Amino acid sequence: MDPKEVINLIQSGGVFDLTPEHFEGRLMSTAEAEEIFKAFDAFWMYKGEAVAQKPHALLKSGKHSNGFIMCKAVLHYPRICHLFANEVVKLIERSLAERISEVDVIASSAYSAITLGWEVARLLSLKHNPRMEYVIVEKDENGNPTNIRGGIDQDKNVIVLNELMTTGSGSTWETREAVIECNTPEPSPKIFNQSFVLMHRSEDFFLADESPVVPIFHFSIGNYDPEDCPWCKAGSKAIKPKLDNNWNILHGITE
Ligand SMILES: [Zn+2]
Repeated sequence: MDPKEVINLIQSGGVFDLTPEHFEGRLMSTAEAEEIFKAFDAFWMYKGEAVAQKPHALLKSGKHSNGFIMCKAVLHYPRICHLFANEVVKLIERSLAERISEVDVIASSAYSAITLGWEVARLLSLKHNPRMEYVIVEKDENGNPTNIRGGIDQDKNVIVLNELMTTGSGSTWETREAVIECNTPEPSPKIFNQSFVLMHRSEDFFLADESPVVPIFHFSIGNYDPEDCPWCKAGSKAIKPKLDNNWNILHGITE
């Protein structure tokens, strides 16, 4: 099916009718991914020029942004998670080429990336390596993904996957670091140089260690300190997307 037909299907309420066959022989487009997220009311991006009348997003980190993506609201549906995992697998296959059969472990962080990581590992186990493993990188008391229980066999080759990336020094990097350090003081497992990110809402294409990121879907969404925020400079107000009626206000549905 071509992307226009897929988008029509989603807009007519058929998001759960989608199967990987709709995307066979091609990659899902960013517009299609965005439409799926919109079907679950999980995607917002500032439309048009920054103006005082339209607010922008205040993130948990305190930064301001022109976009907001909620992966959990989408990836907790097994059928939808399966669709996206299938696209991740295509990118992993394309990126690793003949090395694909060397992948032993998919590692992803708690919590929103767990279902995606598991499903990617499951698909890879069916296609390339029956002994494929899945590892959760658990959050520590500060909420950062740093802990891998029992470590990972040092002979294994690991791929790091994240559901969302905002900056190169955030949870994707922390997940990678957790894998590298999971056997300390014993040797690390082997880790593929590139990390994979489903929803790449970032200007960074490298992590803090300068290793590359492979985005499945890239969105040009900025993150700004309040004092440097172009939307604030235009008089737009920063609001917490999930508070009260703010989600509707961001979408211009209500005042
Ligand atoms: Zn701002």
